[in-house]
Amino acid sequence: MSVWEVAKLCRFKVQRVEELESGLETWLSAADRQIIAKALAIEPALLKEVETRSGLSDFDEIGSKEKLLRQEILSGKTKLACPQCAGLLVCTVENAFDIEDRPFHFAKAFCNECTFILR
Ligand SMILES: [Zn+2]
Repeated sequence: MSVWEVAKLCRFKVQRVEELESGLETWLSAADRQIIAKALAIEPALLKEVETRSGLSDFDEIGSKEKLLRQEILSGKTKLACPQCAGLLVCTVENAFDIEDRPFHFAKAFCNECTFILR
């Protein structure tokens, strides 16, 4: 989705979307968050998480975000925001077998915008 499309969907100025995307504007009002989340078809809570990423310093927090992301992917959601850059993640559910040959699913995701990989 292009900046222009997001702007059109959100009824924001293209410049504002560009600023949001580049991280110049990192704070969103609750209403704006809802609008953008709806336009991108993602959960508002995810946007909020991404907004506060700058305060993210320890690995525990990153680990819990990845855990949450896994749960979301396994629950069937595919349009999820990258925890690092808020870009759209490419999410897949892989089928595999454990040591005792029992089938199980695991979530995989990678970001088109940055180096984030969930494996
Ligand atoms: Zn990313």
